[in-house]
Amino acid sequence: MSQRASDLLTLTREGLYCPLGRFHVDPTRPVERALITHGHADHARAGHGTVLATPETLRIMAVRYGEDFCTTRQEARLGERMRIGDVTVFFAPAGHVLGSAQIAIERDGKRIVVSGDYKRAPDPTCLPFEVVPCDVFITEATFGLPVFRHPDTRGEVRKLIDSVTLFPERAHIVGAYALGKAQRVMALLREEGWDRPIHLHGAMEKLTELYKREGVPLGETPKVVAADRKSLHGAIVLCPPSSIQDVWSRKFPDPVTAFASGWMRVRARARQKGVELPLVISDHSDWPDLCRTILDTGAEEVWVTHGQEDALVHWCGTRGIRAKPLHLLGYGDDGEAEPDPGHDPRMEEASA
Ligand SMILES: [Zn+2]
Ligand SMILES: [Zn+2]
Repeated sequence: MSQRASDLLTLTREGLYCPLGRFHVDPTRPVERALITHGHADHARAGHGTVLATPETLRIMAVRYGEDFCTTRQEARLGERMRIGDVTVFFAPAGHVLGSAQIAIERDGKRIVVSGDYKRAPDPTCLPFEVVPCDVFITEATFGLPVFRHPDTRGEVRKLIDSVTLFPERAHIVGAYALGKAQRVMALLREEGWDRPIHLHGAMEKLTELYKREGVPLGETPKVVAADRKSLHGAIVLCPPSSIQDVWSRKFPDPVTAFASGWMRVRARARQKGVELPLVISDHSDWPDLCRTILDTGAEEVWVTHGQEDALVHWCGTRGIRAKPLHLLGYGDDGEAEPDPGHDPRMEEASA
């Protein structure tokens, strides 16, 4: 199987490459033909020739990079088999962000699944992860250590609402990645009964509007206007992680700083970022879900793309599953912590 797997998928300096189909998956540099799992900047880059992705991911890329982000767009319908060169591919939901998909590559009855980033926890803003049985499963390991067990998101969002009830004079500034996490937090707040407006930093606006156009109900989400900041007592305001600590957030009334991330499990990280109210909300699988997913796929071989690879590779070994780390560079949650290309938070300060 090892031999056959490497015929189906191998590594080049651009990333994962299928020689029989002559395409890359989530390449980190411009290539002729790219299959993209989801819209996060570390997986979806501008400048490729042909891009095959779900319609939602294509629209996310167009919002982030402009309509000319690639030469030719091709839509992948979930579950629809497509022939590319000498292989067959299909996309299946990954449960990570809107439009996120796993990509299955098949030939001669052998199947490799590239999962991109994924989670098993419920998310009102995207389709749930679908188990695709396969011979080789390619997984991330962002939270690939047994200490990582994400709590129920409802409890985390409850903490935020309770804090507003406790401090009705203070604005609550919540740092969240602009794609996926921010909209999930909004949807979770609505589920928990928060029916007041959710205020947005300018950098959140375009992608939030896109989510609404795609049919995700998020309620009223006005953009913060500079002049109004002082009067936003008891408001919930979402902004990019980088804005929690800068002057932008200090203009609000006695701000409480919160941050929604799986990393908030690590107290030192929360302290280091000056976060008063850590919210452990992650769009990645925690340790139990990584292990469960590997078993669910029935894969006899696992490749780990990025994150805490060693523990997961070791765990696979204890289960008799062959596993290897790929040490792929250019991926990782932190890529999402960066502002969008061409977006300068200082400009936002001037306009918002
Ligand atoms: Zn991602
Ligand atoms: Zn990623």
